[in-house]
Amino acid sequence: MYILVINTGSSSVKFTLFDMTAPAALASGLVERIGLTGTELHYRNGKGHSHRGEVVVRDTTEAVGIITAHLTHRDYGVIQSLGEIAAVGHRVVHGGEEVNQPVIVDDEVKRIIETCFELAPLHNPFNLKGIEACEASLPGVPQVAVFDTAFHATIPRHAYLYGLPYRMVKEHRIRRYGFHGTSHKFVSAEAARFLEVPLAELKIVTCHLGNGCSITAVDGGRSVDTSMGFTPLEGVIMGTRCGDIDPAIIFFLMDHKHMGPEEVNDLLNKKSGLLGLADVGSSDLRDIMAARAKGNQQADIAVRTFCYRIKKYIGAYAAAMGGLDVIVFTAGIGENSPPVRELVCDGLGDRTRGLGITVDHAKNTAGNGKLGAIHSDESRVKVLVVPTNEEQEIANQTVDVLRARH
Ligand code: ADP
Repeated sequence: MYILVINTGSSSVKFTLFDMTAPAALASGLVERIGLTGTELHYRNGKGHSHRGEVVVRDTTEAVGIITAHLTHRDYGVIQSLGEIAAVGHRVVHGGEEVNQPVIVDDEVKRIIETCFELAPLHNPFNLKGIEACEASLPGVPQVAVFDTAFHATIPRHAYLYGLPYRMVKEHRIRRYGFHGTSHKFVSAEAARFLEVPLAELKIVTCHLGNGCSITAVDGGRSVDTSMGFTPLEGVIMGTRCGDIDPAIIFFLMDHKHMGPEEVNDLLNKKSGLLGLADVGSSDLRDIMAARAKGNQQADIAVRTFCYRIKKYIGAYAAAMGGLDVIVFTAGIGENSPPVRELVCDGLGDRTRGLGITVDHAKNTAGNGKLGAIHSDESRVKVLVVPTNEEQEIANQTVDVLRARH
């Protein structure tokens, strides 16, 4: 069975075609800078062919058109016709309170995605465009929406409420939603499989540390709390986002620094986090680590502050779940940065005291980018590196939806 996974952003369409009976993707790539100068397509198939180059693409529909033309191309395509695709799985960021699972797209689902435009203005409108472009290019092929928020629908009320007037939830839908759900779901299931323990028996803290970062408490396979909130701005420190701050800082900046709402929004979302703290002109942890290695004090402080916040969330979620069996590190930083993993877990106790988490230095240094354990023999809690694969998880969930239909 062939499943096409599509992730549509404001100026890009990413795609992966899976043969669900084979381990590796048949083809993948993206069209980027859509509607801007220098629009490029990157394409690779599973047979070793890859190319990239400038294309003339004015909108999402044309981007999907050029992607499908590549997939069926006589020389480097991987399928004969688009009719071979059983379904398209779409990443949709926000499903609000109305959806808690992947669904086949119909008019009602499109309405739900639209009602969440105001909750995810930078994502949902483009996600819907991607769905409509695929409906046009692949008529008759089921479109499945897989929501980033859906995995967090199990978070209990006491964890999703803010200390605001209760009518704020009812009237304005202001509550914690959480994001990166597809990744947290995938890596927690992978961790259980790796440990050969049923997911239902595990209390896991999953640390998704990429450009955006979020931590989730997964108790028995269900998300019971997560660090991102009403928007992805809340939680740990990220590449350019500030994470948790005292909300009064916003009013201080507006009153005393005469910043407008747009300016404050821009500061907190795009100029803060590792970028603002380290001040080395980059939000990329590799650049910050390179500066730190050369003795840059501010880069060192930024890394330590970043790791300390993650540590606090691990402690909080161990308390929330009444225990902790596994910590998972995933995404660009989580999978590739031994110093971050070591600093996060440093001082979290041993078998007799604290949370019982110790990392093995050699295993941690060796355990990069691949599925494996990095805890020491005396660690009570297992610490794992688990590469995330959101595209694979979207494809898996798309198949589940198709099977449930029959
Ligand atoms: P996104 O959230 O955009 O999907 P990724 O999960 O790809 O991001 O993570 C991107 C981040 O991962 C980069 O900003 C970089 O800081 C970090 N990263 C990638 N490789 C390494 C590495 N070898 N060492 C440290 N950090 C890394």
